[in-house]
Amino acid sequence: MRIRLKGARVLDPGNIDAFKDIIISSDGLIEAIVDPVIDDSADISEIDITGMVATPGLIDLHVHLREPGQEYKETIETGLRAAAKGGFTAVCTMPNTLPVNDNSSITSFMVSRAKEVGVCRLYPVGAITKGLNGEALCEYADMKRAGMVAISDDGRPVQNARVMRRAMEYAKGLGLPVISHCEDVDLARDGAMNEGVVSTRLGIKGIPNVAESIIVMRDIALAQLTGASLHIAHVSCKESVDAIRDGKKRGANITAESAPHYFTLTDEAVSKYDTNAKMNPPLRAEKDRQAVVEALADGTIDIIATDHAPHSLLEKDVEFDRAAFGIVGLETSLGLSMQLVQDGILSLENLIEKMSKKPAQILGINNDLKIGNPADITVIDPNSFWSVDPKTFVSKSRNTPFGGFSLKGEVYMTIVAGKITYQRDG
Ligand SMILES: [Zn+2]
Repeated sequence: MRIRLKGARVLDPGNIDAFKDIIISSDGLIEAIVDPVIDDSADISEIDITGMVATPGLIDLHVHLREPGQEYKETIETGLRAAAKGGFTAVCTMPNTLPVNDNSSITSFMVSRAKEVGVCRLYPVGAITKGLNGEALCEYADMKRAGMVAISDDGRPVQNARVMRRAMEYAKGLGLPVISHCEDVDLARDGAMNEGVVSTRLGIKGIPNVAESIIVMRDIALAQLTGASLHIAHVSCKESVDAIRDGKKRGANITAESAPHYFTLTDEAVSKYDTNAKMNPPLRAEKDRQAVVEALADGTIDIIATDHAPHSLLEKDVEFDRAAFGIVGLETSLGLSMQLVQDGILSLENLIEKMSKKPAQILGINNDLKIGNPADITVIDPNSFWSVDPKTFVSKSRNTPFGGFSLKGEVYMTIVAGKITYQRDG
């Protein structure tokens, strides 16, 4: 059966912005994008999405799906279903599973498990070093053949600059981006939140901005030395933004991401010792939040990623110091990011660039809404009001600081290779 998506604004930045119907072929490809007409062919199923915006499928470059090893927090299946509900047609899963994705058999397992689930594409990010221990490099060529799209020791930094340099040289030869979790572990040691007036008031040991920005600066320097393509994960503070802006001016081959929590919240969210406001890097001060917002607006920060990090109550329902770092993000990302459009910081077109087109470019994927491409489409209801209720999450975990938030703009439908993988009730 073919599908006709009828009546929406079709928005693919740099390609199309018009009220058109999208015809999806029976083999899941975009068959045509045409002016709305009445079509009573028997073999076409018509879906009226008048008032909605149809965009290229959203891509989240940074998620943790916990399988193998910590299936009580999330599985590839629950994570991908959460992604589909969040409007994502593809996600990149980080390697800090148990065992670590540091060899091609784990990479292959992830790819094949995702294919069985079939609701969202999964692109594994492999480890930079064996066991994420910062020493021996993994076999990137092998892992790339198994489906690995980038390398990162995310969750941990590569502390040894010489090891990072060799990794960049190896990755460059294979055309793989290097994703850096920028953190100087000595500067960050024992910290549980941002270092500043709030941490002093609460008596919690802080993590200074410089713990992040010093490694951002180092890795930009190494990217310039090696010519590797470097992607800076979860940018949280002004000093990192300044370093990235400066590095781009100097022609370094770098891209950067931030997450909705960094442009929505500050460290004041920790005030009541809410462990759902604990993540790494931590929520920062208002001046940092503003720097991230400016960097999104001027393009210094290229993409929005969630750093979806599911944890169970076992890890979160404990004292602040002892709680695990991280929050879930897949099901709230679009709604929180739409706030940037409502505030006039980004146009909807800019937002789709940051949540779909740029991530696709970094991965070397062509996700244009063009004839012959796979029909990976996100349908957004831009005017719908909704409130975040963690009880309705399809993720296995509920660790979000956004419970009860009222948002405008939500996912109406997600389509992967022509198959509807999520549809809102009503
Ligand atoms: Zn990280």
